[in-house]
Amino acid sequence: MEKLTSLIREIPDFPRPGILFKDITPLLEDADAFHFAVTEMATRAKGLRPTKIVSIESRGFIFGAPLAYELHCGLVIVRKPNKLPHKTTKIEYALEYGVDRLEMHVNSLQKGDRVIIVDDLLATGGTAAATAELVSRTGASVEALLFLCELPALHGRQKLKDYDVVSLVSF
Ligand code: AMP
Repeated sequence: MEKLTSLIREIPDFPRPGILFKDITPLLEDADAFHFAVTEMATRAKGLRPTKIVSIESRGFIFGAPLAYELHCGLVIVRKPNKLPHKTTKIEYALEYGVDRLEMHVNSLQKGDRVIIVDDLLATGGTAAATAELVSRTGASVEALLFLCELPALHGRQKLKDYDVVSLVSF
């Protein structure tokens, strides 16, 4: 895990002043570290017997796809507004300033699906909580939310109290 932490680069004031951005690209560029991160996620997810991995645009896709492949699950993508071509179900959620929206295709999940939600990073938890709500509305069950890294100082877990939350590293 220390190697993973060392390969996440901190970029001050990106994309806005005051944000310390966690840049995961050095980790992705390191074959052993990327392989280890996905394998570790798969190890933690396997026992939950997921039927679908739900990944959040855009860096969630980077981990969601190999995880779904490894666990032989379907991959569902949750996207920013107006990106998905078919009929969608939508949710709005609060940002620091204003609101944002996430969308998922209406028939991506069925009642009885066991879902693991995947993203690269848990910060305030708004994105993950909105995605969990979107998934829950379909009748599918959220078995866990899985992140590469977590910023505990932002208390994202408080918005995800009803769910199991797993992160590989935290800062
Ligand atoms: P939040 O909804 O606040 O938990 O934000 C989570 C989403 O925003 C994730 O998809 C992250 O990729 C991104 N994000 C938020 N804060 C950061 C950060 N400091 N560094 C990198 N990505 C971030």
